Amino acid sequence: MSYGLEGQRALAEVLFNSIGDGAVTTDEFGRITRINPTAIEILGYTEEETIGMWFPKLFIAYDEDGRAIPLIDRPITRSFVAGSIISERVHYKTKDGNLVPMAITVSPIMVKDQPVGCIEIFRDITKEYEIDKMKSDFISLASHQLRTPLSAIKTYSHMLIDGFMGPINRSQLKALKTIISASNRMNETISTLLNITRIESGSVAVAKKPVTITDLVDEIAAEYKLASIDKDIKLKIIKPKNKIKIISDAVVLKEIIGNLVSNAIKYTNSGGTVTIETKSKGTQVIVSVADTGVGIPENSKDSVFTKFFRAENVVKQETSGTGLGLFLAKGLIKELGGEVWFDSEENKGSTFYVSLPMLPQIIKSKAVNK
Ligand code: ADP
Repeated sequence: MSYGLEGQRALAEVLFNSIGDGAVTTDEFGRITRINPTAIEILGYTEEETIGMWFPKLFIAYDEDGRAIPLIDRPITRSFVAGSIISERVHYKTKDGNLVPMAITVSPIMVKDQPVGCIEIFRDITKEYEIDKMKSDFISLASHQLRTPLSAIKTYSHMLIDGFMGPINRSQLKALKTIISASNRMNETISTLLNITRIESGSVAVAKKPVTITDLVDEIAAEYKLASIDKDIKLKIIKPKNKIKIISDAVVLKEIIGNLVSNAIKYTNSGGTVTIETKSKGTQVIVSVADTGVGIPENSKDSVFTKFFRAENVVKQETSGTGLGLFLAKGLIKELGGEVWFDSEENKGSTFYVSLPMLPQIIKSKAVNK
């Protein structure tokens, strides 16, 4: 069947109006040229109230905390300027004043490589938003509730080991040590879950102070010494003669680097080596954790930083793990202004790197601010 020009226009109109999500098009000045019935229903305006209006003014985008997003940062502006498709979550105010969370995708409309307008598709995600929040609140509450009994288990196990309740024999000592190491593992899992909910709700509290990174790495290595001896893995530390100081959050850094060291030991067989190296490179300090372990299969390399991901080769070996450690490390390092990445070869080993801005950069930026 062939349509004339008019027929094609009518068909385009019908298609546009049939889109199940809200859809709005603008001209190159951001004035609304079309709005479909779903958008009208979601936002509560009539077609007459919207056509010809300046999109960014009529539909003000707000962030999670209800602050209006500056025009320059709005997806519609960025999409138009960069000529690229942008997907994001924002809040729009409906005509009756309600702030509604939306998943939006803005695409520039290109004619002969020139943007002549934008099309924005959006979906009301109130339900997903509420479920996400309930999930985070639940994890946070459950984690706090789990921590209290756990600390009692640990305290009393330590008291038993230390002989406060009378002498204990060798097999009792072994059992108590297993109880303590299991509760330590559980504690780690709880703090991982708590940190993940913090990252997802954007409430990671970062307290930056001077940190001697070379000393911090020593501390982390000391914490994992026992685990490496237990597995007969050599733990090597390489660091420069001079100490390196940065401005960062020692607690968060410990969590990130500790995670990498813990993985390196976990995924390396007995007799292997884990090397933690700290060095400065330009304005960055780089901490690397190299192992001679199982490595990451080629087809898993893109996924290791995603939530709950565990590569096939480690799942087969049945080592314990949640697939959350690297997801967390990636989220946390961002908060510190750094990066994390890796090189790996299956059956040869992996090296994970963490880079962080060094002190001189901060001094310089302070000087500029004066
Ligand atoms: P977990 O270790 O709890 O499974 P992570 O998020 O820390 O979760 O790591 C995700 C996955 O990345 C691991 O399951 C494993 O497949 C892979 N991985 C991480 N570190 C290493 C390593 N040093 N050597 C080999 N594989 C690793």
